[in-house]
Parts: sequence; structure tokens; C-alpha cells
Amino acid sequence: MNGTIPSTQNPQSAPKQAPTPLPNGRKPRFNPTWIYIILCSFLVYLWVFNNGSSPVQIQWIDVKEKMMPAGDIEKITLITNLNHVEVYVKKDSLSKYKKYFGFKETDHITAPQFYFVIPSTFDADTKFGEVRQQLPAGKKFSIETAERRDYIGRVLEWLFVPALLLFVWLLMFRRMSGTAGVPGGGGIFSVGRSKAQLFDKDHKNKITFQDVAGLEEAKVEVMEIVDFLKNPKKYTELGGKIPKGALLIGPPGTGKTLLAKAVAGEANVPFFSLSGSDFVEMFVGVGASRVRDLFRQAKEKAPCIVFIDEIDAVGRARSKNGGFTSNDERENTLNQLLTEMDGFGSNSGVIILAATNRADILDKALLRAGRFDRQIHVDLPELKERFEIFKVHLRGLKITDGFDIAFLAKQTPGFSGADIANVCNEAALIAARKNKSTIEKQDFLDAVDRIIGGLERKSKIITKEEKRTIAYHEAGHATVSWLLEHANPLLKVTIIPRGRALGAAWYLPEERQITTTEQLLDEMAATLGGRAAEELVFSKISTGAMNDLEKITKQAYAMVSYFGMSEKVGNISYYDSTGQNEYGFNRPYSEKTAELLDHEVKKLIDVSYEKAKKILTQHKAEFSQLAELLLEREVIFSEDLEQIFGKRKNMHQHELL
Ligand code: ATP
Repeated sequence: MNGTIPSTQNPQSAPKQAPTPLPNGRKPRFNPTWIYIILCSFLVYLWVFNNGSSPVQIQWIDVKEKMMPAGDIEKITLITNLNHVEVYVKKDSLSKYKKYFGFKETDHITAPQFYFVIPSTFDADTKFGEVRQQLPAGKKFSIETAERRDYIGRVLEWLFVPALLLFVWLLMFRRMSGTAGVPGGGGIFSVGRSKAQLFDKDHKNKITFQDVAGLEEAKVEVMEIVDFLKNPKKYTELGGKIPKGALLIGPPGTGKTLLAKAVAGEANVPFFSLSGSDFVEMFVGVGASRVRDLFRQAKEKAPCIVFIDEIDAVGRARSKNGGFTSNDERENTLNQLLTEMDGFGSNSGVIILAATNRADILDKALLRAGRFDRQIHVDLPELKERFEIFKVHLRGLKITDGFDIAFLAKQTPGFSGADIANVCNEAALIAARKNKSTIEKQDFLDAVDRIIGGLERKSKIITKEEKRTIAYHEAGHATVSWLLEHANPLLKVTIIPRGRALGAAWYLPEERQITTTEQLLDEMAATLGGRAAEELVFSKISTGAMNDLEKITKQAYAMVSYFGMSEKVGNISYYDSTGQNEYGFNRPYSEKTAELLDHEVKKLIDVSYEKAKKILTQHKAEFSQLAELLLEREVIFSEDLEQIFGKRKNMHQHELL
């Protein structure tokens, strides 16, 4: 079974670019590790060096009673500023004092070999003179005085505290910049450097356009970008300018990043990839400096492509009321990006690709021609595209022979490419859990259910009474939607709890680009069918309809205030497609209009509710039969409804495949 355990890791993530290679004779980058190495070597050297020649401390009494009488001393030097005396032993006599030097060979020991400390009250002249006088002529030693300055020691003492502080500071910055331990990318020295990953021609794990299913128009657009870089002359000869950037816009999981990766795989030019949030750092000015660094690197490698994923992290519209919601650092970064994008000549061979699912909140300056000249919309896949995407993701899976991929594509309207990839993976995992040798259709259906509804929770404790309410509620949805011409076609109804829902009616929404008032009204009535059923059957209502009510309230408000579907309100839309008025401080209509909107919304909902109740009353016998069947079987399908109610009017057929 070929399934991968879901993981948050990005399998494509390449190792960070190491700074060392010098392909075109550029200088190696400065690496802070060298400072540490040099510092440590210096300290080790000093330690070894000092250790080899430093005198051994002994006591004055030993000198006076053993060394001096034996005539082993050549000279003693009184160091006046340090209160100690250095002892120079004759070379021939040194072997007698071997025990003071441990394992060291006495031949290598340099003079002075010993020293002893004297108190400040010690009258050196008199004491040494006395001993010297008592010695016979051959054993006499000379006496000198001198001053010593330990410059290295002093410098080290001075340096110790600042060095320690510097070390701690560096350590903290490495941690804060989050790059500690990353080869070639760590430390305060690189905090302003761009974090872009570089995919070169010979990068492994290449993704090609073959891995991107559907998205034909988007593919053509991005392929043209690749062509711009490969044959710029073809376009510039006619006087045209090569676009500077293209923005991929679309809902999450529709394959924008995948498309960019395919461009990287196909373009055969260096491809820098980074996310909008990579510019953001806690330090002021870092974002702007990273943008500069990114463009510097890109220009060095031109022709090349720079891909910025989730560009809304930096590209969000700059605020007009400075100080209140402004984020200076992000705005500086955006300003730098704007400058860089318009700052280089259009023929310099750097093309910026960016992806976002919030194009509405992007700064207008970023979107203008000359920066992102092209906007490529990547929408949720349609039936045929889903079929293609399934084919791509089923490639590595062991599925049963004669598997009907078209059926799967039909069962998954509204699914994004990422959802489809997830369905395939979940199906493999489900089949593996059941110890199957191939993945079957049912595994895929289970995977779809799981992705839409969440995990089945058969162990949830539900009383008999509650179960009855749920069954009638769901049967209410099913009956109304089945009998209304424009409602979505029903797929199945279940009263097995899943995720947070206690039961569900599953529909196969029609794939359409525009929706009519009738369709919206019929769907609202079907959604209210649950609550209507409870009221009719039990004469009391429950909290179970909250989700339904939330959905229809939103829908009714949208119909009245966005779609202009209320006669009394008229053809007016208060929808703000710019997304600028996020906080909704000012309503663009009067109190009177607000009242009218509320009134119209209530009317729409009331009419739909009455419609649902009417249908249920008219078909009470069939509706009860359905509810009892649901109680018995827990899951029923559209075929069962067909047996009870007869064929549905306007059953939507998928004719594309
Ligand atoms: P987001 O906006 O959330 O970043 P995205 O549009 O960038 O989403 P991708 O990361 O490109 O989405 O897609 C996620 C996964 O979905 C891909 O790794 C791939 O497995 C699958 N996928 C999406 N679209 C397609 C497609 N057209 N063909 C094949 N696989 C697809």
C-alpha cells in the first residue's frame, strides 16, 4: 500500500544554501565561526607556551637551607614590583630538583626555574647578603634586582569581561534570529540576509508540469514566463518588454505553490523560493535588508526566477491612518519590495512569481502593471480537472483493476487539489488499516466522508430520544431537498455522529458559476427542513439546528445586501471587494436601510421555513417512512429516497466526462 503518513513537513524543502562554494571565483563569505577558532587557538597557544617556561613556586626556606648551601644557585633576581624572587639554578644541578617539574624533562626547562614569594616586610638585601657571605667562594651566587611587567596577562584580564559579554550577546542573537545550528546561515551576521532557498538546474526532486494536473490556462501563462527567460530575444526584438512579475491568485490548496515548483523544475534557470513571512523578523530594518539581499542575489544569478509564497504577509495594503494600525517594519519591507521591483531594468532577467489567496488585501501599488504585470487565477478544480488530479495522485497507489476515477471526481465537488491528494492518501491508510492488498472504491468513499465530515464517532453516547430527533431532523432535510426542484441533489443521509455533527445530509452541489434566486431559496428551504421536521413531529424544537440557522442567516443577508435579490432593497450591493474596511466601523447605509435589510432577511427566512413545513406536511407519510428507515439503518442513500418518493425532478447529470 503506498500511503504516506500525514505530516507537516515539507518534503520538498531543500537544505539551506551553504556559503562556501566558489563556482565563479567569488570571494568566500565571512563566517563568524572563524573568530571562535582563532580565539581558541590563541588561548591554547598561550596556555601551552606559558606552561612550558613558567617558574615553579617553592619556599624561601628550601632555597635558604637546601639550594644555597649546596651551591646550586647561579643567580637570584628580586622583582621589586611583584614581591617575588626568581631563582636561577645552575644547569648541571637542575637534575637534583626533578621532582618539582613532574614529567617534564629538565633539559627543556628555561631559567628562572623557580620563584618564591616574599612578604613586603622581608628585608631581601640583608637576608640574601647574610646567606651569601656564609657560603664558600665556589658556591656564591649573584644577586640582581629588576621590575617585570606582565603585559599579556593584563591585556587578557582587561579583555576577559568584554569578551564574555560579547560571547553571551552573540549567543542570544543566534538564538533570536532562529538560525543557530543551520549550516552556513546562522548568527547576527546573517540576520539581514535573505532566507531564500535556491533550486538550481541540477536540484533533485524536480517537479514538472506533468505533476500539475488541470490548470491549463495557468500553465500556459507560467510556461510563457519560462520561455521569456529562455528566449528573451524573441520578445524583445519586436520591441516588447519582458514582464517583471506574475501573481498567482486562488483559494488554498489549488496548486499555486506546486505550479511555481514546476516552473522551477522546467525553467532550467536558478529559482529562488521563499515565503512572505521570511522577510519578517523582530528586528527593525531586517525585512528591508532581506529584500535588498534577495534582489542582489537574484541579479547576480540572472536570468532567474524569484518565487514569494504567501506574499500577503508583506504585501498587505499600507494603512492610511498611521499610528493606529500601522506596522512600520512591515511597511518598510513592502516599500523596499516596491522599490526593488521597479528598480531594475525590465530586461535584467529576474522575474518575480508570487502566490496569495488574499489578493484583495494586497497593496494596490504592488498589483499595478510594471510590478506584477500578470495576475493568474488558479481556481478550485472542476469535474474534468479533478479527474486529472486524481490520475496524478493515484499514480503511486495500488488500486483495484477497473477503478472508476470519474466516479470519484463526481463525488468530490468543491475539493481542492490538496484535498484530493489528501483523499488518496487517506484511502491508502484506511485500506492498510483493514489489511487489504489493494485500495478499493469504498476506501476512497470513506476517505471522502472523513475529510468532509470528520472522524466517525460511533462510541458517542446518544439517548434513544435524541436519536429519534436527529433521524427526523435529517429526514426533514432529505425530504425537502428531494422534492424541491432547484435544491442540491442529495447523496446520502446519515445519523452516525461525525466530527462535531450528530447527523448529516450530504449533497452533491451542482458545479455552476452563477446561482439563481430560485436555487438559493430552495437550498434555504432544504436547510430549514430539519428544524421544520422537529416542529411538525415533536411540536418542540431543539438546539440541533444552530448550524443550519447560522448558514441560512448568512445566506439571507448575502442575498439581500450583496446580491440585490430583494425587491424592496433593490439592485444595491454593500459588498466590499477591496477588503479594506476590515473593521466595519462605518456602515455605508442609514439606520433605516439597516432596518429594511433586517426585515427583508427575516421575510426570506420565514417564507423558506413555511415552504419547508408545507412540503413536509404534504408528504408526511413518506417523510415518516424515511425517518424510520434512517433510524433502522443509520445511513441511507439517494436510491432509497428514490424508492420512497419516486424519481427526482431535474436530477443533475454530469455530462462532461
Ligand atoms: P496555499 O495557498 O494554501 O499555499 P497552494 O495553492 O499553494 O495553497 P499547493 O501547496 O500548491 O497549494 O498544493 C498543495 C498540494 O495539493 C500539492 O502538493 C499537491 O499534492 C496537491 N495539488 C494541488 N493542486 C494540484 C494539481 N493541479 N495537480 C496535482 N496536485 C495538486
